[in-house]
Amino acid sequence: MDDLLYQIDMLKAANKTLDANDKIYKLICNSFKRAFIYYKPSTGVLNSYGNWDDYFDFPLNDYSDLIRTLDIFADEDKDAVRSLFFIEKEDLHEQVYVAKLKDGKRFVELHSIVNTDLSGEVSEKLISINDVTQKQNLKDELMFMAYYDFVTGLYNRNYFIQKLKELLDKAEKEKTIVSVMMIDIDDFHKINDGLGIIYGDEVVQDFGIFLRDFVCDTVIGSRFDGDIYAFAIYDPAGATSIDSIYEKIKERTSKPFKLTNGSEISFTVSLGIAEYPEAGSGALELVNGAEIVMLKAKEAGKNTIRYFDSLVLNEFKNSVAIENKLKLAVNNMDFYLNFQPQYYSSNKRLRGVEALIRWKDAEGKLVSPAMFIPLAEKSGSIISIGDWVLETSVSKFMEWKKRYDYDMILSVNISSIQYKRPDFVTKVISTINRNDMKPEELELEITESVLIDDIKTVVEKMEELRDFGVKISIDDFGTGFSSLSYLKGLPADTLKVDKSFIDSILNDESTRIITQAVIEMAGKLGYETVAEGVETEEQMELLKSLGCDIIQGYYLSKPVPDTEIEEILLRV
Ligand code: C2E
Ligand code: CA
Ligand code: CA
Repeated sequence: MDDLLYQIDMLKAANKTLDANDKIYKLICNSFKRAFIYYKPSTGVLNSYGNWDDYFDFPLNDYSDLIRTLDIFADEDKDAVRSLFFIEKEDLHEQVYVAKLKDGKRFVELHSIVNTDLSGEVSEKLISINDVTQKQNLKDELMFMAYYDFVTGLYNRNYFIQKLKELLDKAEKEKTIVSVMMIDIDDFHKINDGLGIIYGDEVVQDFGIFLRDFVCDTVIGSRFDGDIYAFAIYDPAGATSIDSIYEKIKERTSKPFKLTNGSEISFTVSLGIAEYPEAGSGALELVNGAEIVMLKAKEAGKNTIRYFDSLVLNEFKNSVAIENKLKLAVNNMDFYLNFQPQYYSSNKRLRGVEALIRWKDAEGKLVSPAMFIPLAEKSGSIISIGDWVLETSVSKFMEWKKRYDYDMILSVNISSIQYKRPDFVTKVISTINRNDMKPEELELEITESVLIDDIKTVVEKMEELRDFGVKISIDDFGTGFSSLSYLKGLPADTLKVDKSFIDSILNDESTRIITQAVIEMAGKLGYETVAEGVETEEQMELLKSLGCDIIQGYYLSKPVPDTEIEEILLRV
């Protein structure tokens, strides 16, 4: 009897421990916010643990309930879940799957572990169900950030290139064409300047969303950069052709876009097309090609489309060849300067000279600065070239000053890249000081396009230089963006009316009227005016009668070597 009582006591004690363990298990299960399914096929034992109610609105009592659990999952994931729940794969003791729920919003991670007995049969199975919605959303967000442009929902540049590479691989196997299309909003800076960046972004977004409609099985699209979009069309002879896309774009841009502030904005776009395999075999090559011809479309007056063909290819190869030669030339500083005199229209007195760089390549061929300066700007070598021009022209100028003691001005062309360097102002000032030059003897010519790029920084630097006494001249006036009203706030001394105006000033009434207005307005604002590219006496006389202060051009003198300037100085 005692023995029996002892055994009952022992059992009670064991039960208590079991109860305690059970509580601990429950606590652990609950704290994980998971639901667990425990299943023993041999005995039919089926239990749920943890936060079962968070996932299911019915209890787990028998096998049919287990089948019912499938109902909570999204259709597309049901097969995978069914397999994880019910199908045992050999040597797969553990499986993990992230499944979407029916509501399309929540995600759960399913984790199954299986134990087998000696004969290899499943003896028990534990499945945990864990809500990973937050984690999944974060992952989606990170994925999105890595692959998409969040303004338009199009691919970003990197992902576009990656996808384009895949398309090209496929095209190579299937011997198909792939067209790369680059689309750029014309005069976007005007929209940005006029409306502000916020609404500028809205334009980029609205147009991007419109373009997104072209995306399909055979078309991938991206916001490539700023207001530039890139598309790739697989087999453009197929369902989606370049023409059809271009027509739809033109149709859309013929109507204004409505912004959230109620205003309406209209714009045109320029397109460049480069086709695989004709324009290149690699993704970057094609993108470059499309960009090159897109820029050609801009040069051709915007609102048009250009295709990369063999002509462009040759031109491109040519510029690559020049780029390579230019590298060598910069190393050896194989440049020299010409100077073009400028004269006052009133008394024909020599006002000064403009320094113009010259480069004879290794074969002795002269390469126009209009060709190689843009290349030097692209590669950055314009900085050393510009330093050399400034230093060389200033020291030559001071030599003349000492020898001929003639009061004049040296004009030097400065590229936007030079302006953007933080040490630009100090460099100019130290060159002046080192050479004992008077600051007002130096005039820096800056083209309008520089101003458009980054007006605030550039204007600050122009002001600093003017405070020091250096003159600032606006070059090529009338070719770019500048309007007369825009001139008002510019810290400049001189305005150079572009040659294109002078070219047609005699034959074209409206050009004459515009030029007259420019000269008058510039005069009122206190600028001196220079007409450049004056080739005939008639042009000169007309400009003089319109009140233009200074004349520069072949009629009076071409750009000449320094020795010829000395001959002129001997005679003045
Ligand atoms: P730009 O500053 O507008 O220079 C005037 C250009 O017009 C020069 O061409 C000059 O030779 C040419 N020109 C002057 N008068 C006449 C004329 O009556 N008829 C014709 N048909 N042309 C005339 P160039 O020397 O070929 O220079 C072209 C451009 O290269 C320059 O245009 C300037 O933007 C750039 N450049 C030249 N030298 C430098 C430099 O040292 N630094 C920088 N950054 N750019 C330079
Ligand atoms: Ca110039
Ligand atoms: Ca010019």
